Amino acid sequence: MALKVDKDLCTGCGLCAQICPEVFEIGDDGYSHVKRGADEDLPCVDEAMDQCPVGAISR
Ligand code: SF4
Repeated sequence: MALKVDKDLCTGCGLCAQICPEVFEIGDDGYSHVKRGADEDLPCVDEAMDQCPVGAISR
């Protein structure tokens, strides 16, 4: 499964991008995106998944 952000759930709070800026960024649409070519196995990905207040990050 590929890492992804559910845009129907994401509020654009930016927490994941703070926790794991190597992987997540807030796009022009105001929602979080997985950066192209990002290392999805970084430990901070799991932390961001745990910390997302709406559970929008999955894989
Ligand atoms: S932490 Fe969750 S709600 Fe906040 S920007 Fe990231 S994916 Fe969206």
